[in-house]
Amino acid sequence: MAMSGTMTHCAAMMLAWYRRGHRSLPWRAESGEAGDPYRVWLSEIMLQQTTVAAVIPYFERFIEAWPTVGALAAADLDTVLRAWAGLGYYARARNLHACARAVAGRPGGRFPDTEAELRTLPGIGVYTAAAIAAIAFGRHATVVDGNVERVVARLFAVAEPLPAVKPHLRELAATLTPEHGCGDFAQAMMDLGATVCTPRRPRCLVCPLVGACAAAAAGVAQDLPRRAAKAERPTRRGVAYWLEDGEGAVLLRRRADKGLLGGMVELPSTVWGTQAPPDRVAIADQAPVQAAWRPLPGIVRHTFTHFHLELTMVAARVAGPGAVTGADGFWVPVTQLAGQALPSVMRKLIRHAAGENGMAAEPDDER
Ligand code: SF4
Repeated sequence: MAMSGTMTHCAAMMLAWYRRGHRSLPWRAESGEAGDPYRVWLSEIMLQQTTVAAVIPYFERFIEAWPTVGALAAADLDTVLRAWAGLGYYARARNLHACARAVAGRPGGRFPDTEAELRTLPGIGVYTAAAIAAIAFGRHATVVDGNVERVVARLFAVAEPLPAVKPHLRELAATLTPEHGCGDFAQAMMDLGATVCTPRRPRCLVCPLVGACAAAAAGVAQDLPRRAAKAERPTRRGVAYWLEDGEGAVLLRRRADKGLLGGMVELPSTVWGTQAPPDRVAIADQAPVQAAWRPLPGIVRHTFTHFHLELTMVAARVAGPGAVTGADGFWVPVTQLAGQALPSVMRKLIRHAAGENGMAAEPDDER
């Protein structure tokens, strides 16, 4: 798309601003240099819905353990899931591993360099494909994340609310993207949104785009972008089972590969329903074994993207070792729970049960 003089000016201002001094992040190349596709990809997958500060230690641990995409492809999935624990969204970690394997199987074990080909890889959507194409391969691609949407909505004073206005913001962002220096431009826009054009108090006085910004001129920057009212998150409730055998091992099971926390390890639990908590009959019916279940005091709460979860716990002990195994269950010594690929909500449950049972061992905190 041909750029107007104002758009060209905005792109030039952004590139100059970025090259004067950008955020130093462990996955970034120097400005003007192409990034390493493996590092760009890994950081972008980790950064989806997570902050830069939270991602940095994970990124550094991954790079130390698996310095190349080939090394990550050769790693065992459970080891990768364990290293990911705490970043949430485990489907992303599973896709990360599947994508590494797909790349390792390509000619030369290299990432493809176009948006279209990148999008064929597991876990790489429109945004991530554009980011890798622009930042690692210098391709002409428009990279639009939440930060960029905010900058664009303000720059053009777009009053229609998100999320319906997203396609329009993408079109406007495309009008700004320069022919050359797309990688630096994309990172400049991300940095501007993260450090200057921030959600609450945009710092227009130090912004390189202030001379062209419609929202700043109208004094409405802080009110944009608008958002449609969100539906309330429902609360789901259930009961988790803490079952120990005579040798101090706990019954765990693995979740189905698809869906929420796909493939992760968990404590058995009842169905998580939106109605009242399960009663004694439902608890007995859904228990992994028949046992003298006793309730543990307290509630464990966790919030997922689409719902709040409230779990109570019941505990029982069976003669052992490993006297009972459900079809999909397996026993793990309490002292080895930390080594399991447990999502945050399960770690909370285990800490809760450990406290109630007076146990010494519990998994490490994730952050
Ligand atoms: Fe954001 Fe203000 Fe810059 Fe406009 S001038 S892009 S509102 S920081």
